[in-house]
Amino acid sequence: MFSSIVLSGRPPRVAVVGAGLSGIACARRLSEAGCAVFLFDKARGVGGRMATRRAQWIDPDGAVHRATFDHGTPAFSARSAAFRAFIDEAVEDGVLARWEPVMAPGSHQNLDGLALWVSTPDMPALCRRLAAGLPQTLSRPVDEIARDGQGGWRLLAQGELLGDGAFDAVVLAMPPAQAAALLAPYREDWARQARAVPMQPCWTLMAAEPGEPPPWDAAWPQRGPLAWVVRQDARPGRPAGGGMNHWVAHATAAWSATFLESAADTVQALLQDALAEALGRRPRWAHAAVHRWRYALAPRSEGARQPCWWDPALSLGVCGDFLGGAGVEGAWLSGRALAAAIAPGATA
Ligand SMILES: Cc1cc2nc3c(=O)[nH]c(=O)nc-3n(C[C@H](O)[C@H](O)[C@H](O)COP(=O)(O)OP(=O)(O)OC[C@H]3O[C@@H](n4cnc5c(N)ncnc54)[C@H](O)[C@@H]3O)c2cc1C
Repeated sequence: MFSSIVLSGRPPRVAVVGAGLSGIACARRLSEAGCAVFLFDKARGVGGRMATRRAQWIDPDGAVHRATFDHGTPAFSARSAAFRAFIDEAVEDGVLARWEPVMAPGSHQNLDGLALWVSTPDMPALCRRLAAGLPQTLSRPVDEIARDGQGGWRLLAQGELLGDGAFDAVVLAMPPAQAAALLAPYREDWARQARAVPMQPCWTLMAAEPGEPPPWDAAWPQRGPLAWVVRQDARPGRPAGGGMNHWVAHATAAWSATFLESAADTVQALLQDALAEALGRRPRWAHAAVHRWRYALAPRSEGARQPCWWDPALSLGVCGDFLGGAGVEGAWLSGRALAAAIAPGATA
């Protein structure tokens, strides 16, 4: 599809909107295949749902405390040979570490039995490394993609043009509801399918409390509001707590859906109670905050499904975990598959 542009002697210009792992995996592969790739994201940094929040608070004695909380995906695993090979490389590069948490008594079993991986020193590190050297426009939500009359694409944020000219192709690498809004004028069929994907929400509590750490690093409670409880300061490559336990607690999808539109302080109080119950004591909270992930997890796909969408006539593509099979691995596979569909030189 790019042959005429390649023949004209300049590399195809591709805009990748969404700098989570799917977009960045796609962008990196396209760049290796000779495309000029430009990354756009509405957030201040890359990584998407592979996220780490920095927090600071002042205690009653006036001491300043700082902490980081991996409030998006806590960890991920690999099933496919391709993703396992990618993980091996990232481990060698020092941006991934194996996480072998001591699980709290009563946690349900990790039935998959697969190794868990964590980016270091923070969750976006893997994406930052993959995105290194690619031009990035951050903190700008793309609210429109427009044809420019000569077969190219332009990106707009509140009517303002983004980037330094037209693009030969556009990749949308974002949760399906957000992609649907941009797709609708061009591929209403894709927009409809994207809107129908039942993404699961997740309310996440980030909290700190002074005290002795428990003899475990993480818990998978079998009942109640919480799906995951993670002691942040016990994770690979994270700073020690300095006398504080730093907790990240993810609510279950069902609980999060029930409280999706509740006020943050209501949710925070309920999740603090649930975490206290998981800890079996009443912590003296030094810090607490919640984050609502409206689109946290894609449903696992059953059977064969297209790992990405690519329309060669429009030069418009879509990738993301909701197409690639859920989770971090699904996001990566989807991004790679789209790069292979766009540029013949890029294998998945
Ligand atoms: C709480 C939580 C727990 C999770 N647990 C696990 C787990 O245990 N295992 C696992 O494998 N996965 C887990 N995941 C899911 C995993 O994080 C995702 O599947 C994966 O990171 C998705 O990558 P992506 O590139 O498809 O999307 P994202 O990471 O969401 O990236 C999309 C990007 O698009 C940007 N964007 C959106 N709209 C626009 C716009 N209009 N303009 C510009 N930019 C835009 C966003 O800012 C974002 O950076 C979890 C996620 C969450 C939130």
